[in-house]
Amino acid sequence: MKIINNHDTNPFAEWHEKVGTLPHFAPGSVWLVGAGPGDPALITLMGYHALRAADVIIYDALVSNDILALANPKAECIFAGKRGGKPSPKQSDITDQIIHHAKNNQRVLRLKGGDPFVFGRGAEEATALVRAGIPYRLVPGITSGIAGLAYAGIPLTHRDANSSVLFLTGHSTTGEVPDNIDWHAAAHAAPVIVMYMAVKHAHTITANLIDNGRDPNEPVAIISHATTPKQKLIKGRLFNLPKLAKRAETPAIIVVGKVVNYQKLLQWRG
Ligand code: SAH
Repeated sequence: MKIINNHDTNPFAEWHEKVGTLPHFAPGSVWLVGAGPGDPALITLMGYHALRAADVIIYDALVSNDILALANPKAECIFAGKRGGKPSPKQSDITDQIIHHAKNNQRVLRLKGGDPFVFGRGAEEATALVRAGIPYRLVPGITSGIAGLAYAGIPLTHRDANSSVLFLTGHSTTGEVPDNIDWHAAAHAAPVIVMYMAVKHAHTITANLIDNGRDPNEPVAIISHATTPKQKLIKGRLFNLPKLAKRAETPAIIVVGKVVNYQKLLQWRG
């Protein structure tokens, strides 16, 4: 998708006229902004406003180049993610960097994939900012565990299928399956389970769910590179998830539940 970045016009003029002003991005403050799941058009208006106003942008690996192309051309863009097999920078180093730039009276935009408060360590960064006495704002983003399904034609809820949803992460900071998930509760909690970072440990997760009573024949879907031109969908049954996950590209969202059955009818992306 091509986005025309015309910095000579004010894209917010109509908004200001009809709705009101957007919040002021004050020097010395940090905005923690969700970039959305990938499609640049899924960033919020507030996120776009922040991109235009920021002096420094510290961004993660899941933030697409198309979104960075929307930034103020004078902004300094700093990559803070994992690149090409190298270990990710330490969370404390990223936080120190954010605080350093804010103390230099910059408008610091911390840009994260999806929503910063959904499995994205945004809460840890926000805590560090509060402790350092730096004013911050949280700008929510559209999370991949919701938009990814929508772009695959899978409804997160359908009245005939579910009245609740469970979100979980298959990966903790140590790189293992989180040890604080009650798998018996997880297997029974909701008719739909949406899993982030679950491809690597799909085998263990599947076993944990089935051993605790989840139906092995339940439909599953893996949505890779959701909302981008590289989006791919793999469908199957829960018992077969470990095999399906082996051929799935990452990042990917895994969804378990009958809502996957609506995909055939509701897919809209061609
Ligand atoms: N804060 C992010 C999640 C960060 S954790 C959000 O709200 O979306 C990283 C995980 O998010 C990935 O391992 C993957 O499970 C999921 N993810 C992020 N972007 C994705 C995309 N475009 N397609 C599929 N999964 C994605």
